[in-house]
Amino acid sequence: MLDLAIIGGGPAGLTAGLYSTRGGLKEVVMFEMGMPGGQITGSSEIENYPGQLEVVSGLDLMQSWPQQAMKFGLKHEMKKISSVVKNGDIFILTADDGSTFESKSVLLATGSVPRRAGFKGENEFFGRGISTCATCDGFFYKGKEVAVVGGGDSALEEAVYLSKICSKVYLVHRRDTYRAAPSTIEHMKKTENIEEVTNVDVEEVFGDASGVTGLKVKSKEDGTIRQLDVPGVFIFVGRDVLNEPIKNEDGTFICDTDDQGQVIVDLKMRTSLSGLYAAGDVRIDAAKQVVCAAGDGATAAVDIIDFLG
Ligand code: NAP
Repeated sequence: MLDLAIIGGGPAGLTAGLYSTRGGLKEVVMFEMGMPGGQITGSSEIENYPGQLEVVSGLDLMQSWPQQAMKFGLKHEMKKISSVVKNGDIFILTADDGSTFESKSVLLATGSVPRRAGFKGENEFFGRGISTCATCDGFFYKGKEVAVVGGGDSALEEAVYLSKICSKVYLVHRRDTYRAAPSTIEHMKKTENIEEVTNVDVEEVFGDASGVTGLKVKSKEDGTIRQLDVPGVFIFVGRDVLNEPIKNEDGTFICDTDDQGQVIVDLKMRTSLSGLYAAGDVRIDAAKQVVCAAGDGATAAVDIIDFLG
């Protein structure tokens, strides 16, 4: 029987693992199929993690986190948890391979995944010229022109990152104002080889057997179509939360969520189901910052220790 089952190995899960084990819990397991570190490991440049003076990649920032938590006894199971049910006071977790685990408490720290924009050709060319990770795939377009779709922090930051590798970056956005932080917008606007293509809808991404060869965008002002001949399209149009493990077979959830499936928590990261916590991007009103996810994980762990008495 576990004291705490942590689902997800990003900043929230790892910090909960560190605080709960250092705080005295003995049987704490973090379930993470891939390498611990979370979605931030796909970010090219982090310059807003407190105390971190140098700009670092997400991968470098997260490198020591698992080791630190495991030093205090956190265990890692490379399994994907597909369902969580509560039976009396005990949670039963089932993994994709059919194995089951019993735990006195559960922390959902599954985060989110990149959202699809929904235009023609997106699914067909995903992984063949369409990417959601500039750090992973930017190198393939060294010296070439690429397009970035989106107008938030991710799109602008990754456009700036790609501008250092690629000859030119078209920043394609459906409005003419951006959601990103003012300093990020300023940085992007100062970057000479970024061309803003705003107030347009992506009509389609097209290509051939070897992959993407371009995209067509339609002006919202006069309906004209412009073709951008690029071999790479990077899409950053937001993220969807990963809440599958807490979904019932009928599509409802084992605890309260909002209409987007984000888990409703209180200030201690407690959900409406006693013993079930949620932390990081999967919860409502998440600021979607590494430091906030880590803070959530610590907050949850402190209360879980109390809850288990
Ligand atoms: P986001 O802030 O939700 O921005 C998504 C962008 O994509 C918006 O500009 C949106 O346009 C556009 N969009 C959405 N659906 C679209 C579609 N179907 N077709 C075309 N465009 C579409 O997402 P994000 O940039 O991934 O950021 C997510 C969160 O993480 C934010 O809270 C952000 O502040 C945070 N974040 C922070 C940092 C940092 O602090 N360094 C870095 C990355 C992300 P509209 O503007 O018209 O809605």
